[in-house]
Amino acid sequence: MKTKITVLNSLLMTLISCFILGFMMYISQFVTATSGERQLKYIVHDNAEEVEWEKGKLDLDDLDLFENHISTLVYSDDGVLLGGFASDHALFTIYPLINREVTSVNLDGVQYLLYDFLVEDSKNGNIFLRGIVSVSEISETITLLFNITFISLPIFILLSALGSYYITKKSIKPLEKIIETAEDITKGEDLSQRINLNQGKDEIHKLAQTFDTMFSKLEQAFISEKQFSSDVSHELRTPTSVILAECESQLEENFSLEEKQESFQSIYRQGKKMQQLISTLLNLVRLDNGVQKINYEKVDLSELITIILEEQESLLLQNKKLFSEIEKNVFCDCDYTLMIRVISNLIDNGMKYGKDDGFVKVSLTENQDTVQITVEDDGIGIGAEDLDHIFKRFYRVDAARSENQSDSMGVGLSMVEQIIKLHHGNITVDSAVGKGTSFHLVLPKDREI
Ligand code: ADP
Repeated sequence: MKTKITVLNSLLMTLISCFILGFMMYISQFVTATSGERQLKYIVHDNAEEVEWEKGKLDLDDLDLFENHISTLVYSDDGVLLGGFASDHALFTIYPLINREVTSVNLDGVQYLLYDFLVEDSKNGNIFLRGIVSVSEISETITLLFNITFISLPIFILLSALGSYYITKKSIKPLEKIIETAEDITKGEDLSQRINLNQGKDEIHKLAQTFDTMFSKLEQAFISEKQFSSDVSHELRTPTSVILAECESQLEENFSLEEKQESFQSIYRQGKKMQQLISTLLNLVRLDNGVQKINYEKVDLSELITIILEEQESLLLQNKKLFSEIEKNVFCDCDYTLMIRVISNLIDNGMKYGKDDGFVKVSLTENQDTVQITVEDDGIGIGAEDLDHIFKRFYRVDAARSENQSDSMGVGLSMVEQIIKLHHGNITVDSAVGKGTSFHLVLPKDREI
């Protein structure tokens, strides 16, 4: 590419230079020729004024017979050479004298311009002045210009080629870096590599920055994908192992009916856990891929939350309390089914991680543009170091405490956050270990397009 641009640029430069030079030569030749002719006439006319006769004898002392490469010859009106200056006087005599006319003659291969002028003198007799200038002398300047040009042109083109090669090389270098990094990533599959061009505002720097951002996103997606696969297999391993172990022992030994029932209950629980995990993951993947479309409708959140609370109330363990503080007629553009998933999940968590005789409280308020839902409990709480991670997939604050919860999979909050984001809302959490946790949701009332 560098060579191509340099060659093309040099060819173009040569072409343009030749064209401009040719044009200049033509103009200068024309200008020099006309000015040479003008000078020839000027000197002859000037000399004509200086012609004097002294006692019937021609006096040529005041004439400039050779000036600015122009020679002047003096003839009688019948063509006899009377005087003057020219290397070969006699040779020019063969050309007829024609008053006030410039003629171009070729003598021994040399081109001359002749100009004749009649100086009339009735007393002493007419004479002719003939100015002679060699055309080669006129074009001496042009020849010099030609020579300078022909020597400097290749230097000029060479310099321009080197210049364009250097500039192209410099401009292409970042592109080479981009290609190099992309190739390295492809060969080694190392997505952590970056182009890392220094700051610049031109298109190539912008391209490199875009590529770097793309590589970061790809790397992030790749890591999440890996993490996700390993987490899923990890989560499925335990229930599968339990099911297999239970089945094997049932096949090998003779258990009592009671023991068999216990074993089947365990298999059932693990199967249920797997089913729940698979359906939650499916929902998450659907949300991620945009397969699950948001069916916006004007939902009466006051009514929806009241219904959810009534359902939850029937499932409540005796020692837990469920409170609510719901403003009436709070409407919001959202997906009815997804909203049930969000609120149920948060209430479930409040129950799961609450104290034995604790409470879960759900509040709903509104202001001009948004609605706020808070789900609060007085349970075990979450440490500050874990708060940033609880929305990550498969993250469980303390594996041991969550392990006691047979349905704890660490994916509920991740799904809640995803749904809230899809609704252009926001979810935050406040918590203190041993005191309790509050999840705050803010949703725009009107659908954002
Ligand atoms: P899980 O299925 O484990 O409940 P979640 O994604 O819903 O998964 O929650 C992630 C983790 O955050 C839980 O394992 C738990 O440790 C912590 N957590 C969530 N909600 C609460 C809460 N209300 N109180 C205390 N800890 C909570």
